[in-house]
Amino acid sequence: MKIFFLFAAFLLTTGVNRAHAQELSPAAFLGYEPGSRFTYHHRILDYFRQLSDTHRDRVKLMEYGRSYEDRPLVITVISSAGNMSRLEDIRKAHLAGTGLLQGETRRGERPAIAWLSYNIHGDEAASSEAAMQLAYELLEGDQSLLENLVVIIDPCSNPDGHSRYVNWYNQVAGKHPGSLPSAREHAQPWPGGRYNHYAFDLNRDWAWQVQKESQQRTALYSRWMPHLHADFHEMGAGSTYYFPPAARPFHEDITPWQREFNDIVGEYNRKYFDRNNWLYFTKTSYDLFYPSYGDTWPTFNGAIGMTFEQAGGGRAGLALARPEAGDTITLKDRIAHHVAAGRATLQALAAHKEKVVLEFELFFKKARQEPAGKYRTYLVKTKGFEAAAEALARFLDKQQISYGRSGERFAAQATDLISDKTVKISFDPEDLVIPAFQPRSRLLKVLMESSPLLEDSLTYDITSWGLGYVFGIPVFGLEQKREGSAYQPADKAIGSPVEAAAPSASKPYAYLARWEGSRDLRFLSDLLNHKVLVRTANSGFEMEGENFPPGTLVILRAGNGGFGERFDKIITGLAGKHAVSLLPVATGLVSKGIDLGSDQVTVLKPVKVALPGGAAVSPTAFGAVWHFFDQEIGYPLIVLNKDNFEPSYLDQVDVLVLADGNYASLLTDERMSQLTGWISKGGKLIVMERALEAFAGRKGFFLKRKPGEKRETADLLKPYADKSRESIRSESLGGIFEVTLDTTHPIGYGYAGRSYYSSVRSVYDLEYLTEGWNVGYLNSNAYRGGFVGEKAKTRLKNTLIIGVQEIGKGKIIYMADNPLFRGFWENGKLLFGNAVFR
Ligand SMILES: [Zn+2]
Repeated sequence: MKIFFLFAAFLLTTGVNRAHAQELSPAAFLGYEPGSRFTYHHRILDYFRQLSDTHRDRVKLMEYGRSYEDRPLVITVISSAGNMSRLEDIRKAHLAGTGLLQGETRRGERPAIAWLSYNIHGDEAASSEAAMQLAYELLEGDQSLLENLVVIIDPCSNPDGHSRYVNWYNQVAGKHPGSLPSAREHAQPWPGGRYNHYAFDLNRDWAWQVQKESQQRTALYSRWMPHLHADFHEMGAGSTYYFPPAARPFHEDITPWQREFNDIVGEYNRKYFDRNNWLYFTKTSYDLFYPSYGDTWPTFNGAIGMTFEQAGGGRAGLALARPEAGDTITLKDRIAHHVAAGRATLQALAAHKEKVVLEFELFFKKARQEPAGKYRTYLVKTKGFEAAAEALARFLDKQQISYGRSGERFAAQATDLISDKTVKISFDPEDLVIPAFQPRSRLLKVLMESSPLLEDSLTYDITSWGLGYVFGIPVFGLEQKREGSAYQPADKAIGSPVEAAAPSASKPYAYLARWEGSRDLRFLSDLLNHKVLVRTANSGFEMEGENFPPGTLVILRAGNGGFGERFDKIITGLAGKHAVSLLPVATGLVSKGIDLGSDQVTVLKPVKVALPGGAAVSPTAFGAVWHFFDQEIGYPLIVLNKDNFEPSYLDQVDVLVLADGNYASLLTDERMSQLTGWISKGGKLIVMERALEAFAGRKGFFLKRKPGEKRETADLLKPYADKSRESIRSESLGGIFEVTLDTTHPIGYGYAGRSYYSSVRSVYDLEYLTEGWNVGYLNSNAYRGGFVGEKAKTRLKNTLIIGVQEIGKGKIIYMADNPLFRGFWENGKLLFGNAVFR
């Protein structure tokens, strides 16, 4: 039997090796012509696996991780046999050229490294089909490309979204594609395949790396640091094809060479598209500004980063009639365009290889020796901001940006990057120092700036993401270099679990933990999951010379008797796990303020939280809440289906969250009165962003919109050609506002002495509540940075951001802002946690 198997295996391998190249084409391998159906993810992987099995000398497949739904994430490296035989030497020599890898490396012929990513938006499924075809052509076509290039192909960066779309499509499509736009196969169900498991848009997550797929991909990316990154997408089905040069605005930190190469790539692509009479456009829509895309993040990491967009996306299916364009767009065409664009781009890279390699090294040499911008050092205050500093340090680690502790006390003239004012300020030994002289200096500058220069406000995304705002921590720019003596290597105590503190008494009366950031939320969540009775101080107090503000967690031995001898071990163990410092105290008597047995110290209930998802709910807003509970703080969440929602479900729920979306059909008058009944019995309803529409001005709710703006004569006589520019005067493109918070209200706990910044993406213009609590609002001087149109700026003055209306024993929390924006807005997590748990 064994011999038979060996023999069969032998036959198989030699058989495949001798197989004619044709048989290795996607068509031959898959058994159908590319474009005649969508290929399942596992079959795409099978295809690349067989390429690497049959072309061992030129193809290497590497699994770099797993998706949330446990699908493999892979890249395939393709190059000439010569290059492949010294692949690791090529990689190391290349990294050494950036300064990211120290030490001696063997330098030989230097191929350029190209990284092509496909299908980060899962339902843009022509991309992965094109990846197979391009890989095949690279192996069968002109080999000079592979002599000059190392080509890395990520055939499917978002396998969960891709599978959601393709599995659905293949289920609903018949034998003959229904090209009518109204056919079922052109309307995929909520939330759509664009997103990953947690409904995150992975193409907004390159810099923040909140999602597992992004973390694993960027870690691998950093091992390769390609010269070029091309990201293949699809856009609206009615459009044509987009390739570089990109649209304005370009971020000012994009180098002249990166701009020039955009034009070169455009020229190479144009030839293919013109020759075939294919329609295309350049220089519009897809700009290079927000740093968390598949084109910009690689760009700030020295690469030539670019986006390609084919018309189709999750709507076009196998074929879609487009009466207005007089054609039918087919999957076959979409694949052909993407393959041509990939080929053209690789040809452009190969033809300019020497210059590409030289310019790339120059980018990093400049970063190390004369960094861009006026700051030579960035400083971060940590005293009173320990939790935020820890989160920031973790983030810098992910970017491979070096930092350290200042190690000494000194005073300096510096620019406050929050207010953009020059101040004289003193720094402490524990403050963070981030030197600008380092390989990732360009990325560092882009991330630290509060208001990046915007050459054109018609941009695709938010316009400010300064880390000071994101993490809610004071950051400063220093025009002097801080010398090595003051700079210490990264202090790994930041961001890694601390040793559990030894209890000061053998059996402390209580443990106290400050309430400062998301690590404290994770700690609370873990305590509640372990069924520990946790209390909170609703007023400040002083103990052992330390001041404890409202919100402090008080974990008393009393009430936790069930744990017996294990109590101390559980509490200190969980604190260590979450890097939370505990103060064990031997008494309930405080030196100032409320005693620990006071009625101002109340129990934090292990609340049952529910979140409805479904049609008309923003998938990404829903996903941010889901991810927050599931992954960020590890707390159980009941996910409901909005489309069969019954108010009776609320009997088992303490907190109901309505994420951004339209709830008009759900919240009929009858359901609304059932909802109000549930609140009055003690339920808590958290209503976010556009979900507020269902409540504003409605009977029984105090929420009100401001009256509409008066239209002036100038508005009425505006020229037609200016219509886009005119409309952005009324918009806020992620402009940053400082929210005035009532830190005596439980929702504001933990924010005393700190600021909460909101990234404002729509003009909420809500009146202050005349009854209830205006916990967070924008005063008339709240604007801090980013783009906000003139009209929007006016309307956002004196606007409610967070309001609380009490109804019976329960309450409704109005939240115009999304404090969990894209999962990376660290500064908002505690605020949202307060809304849920307090
Ligand atoms: Zn896309």
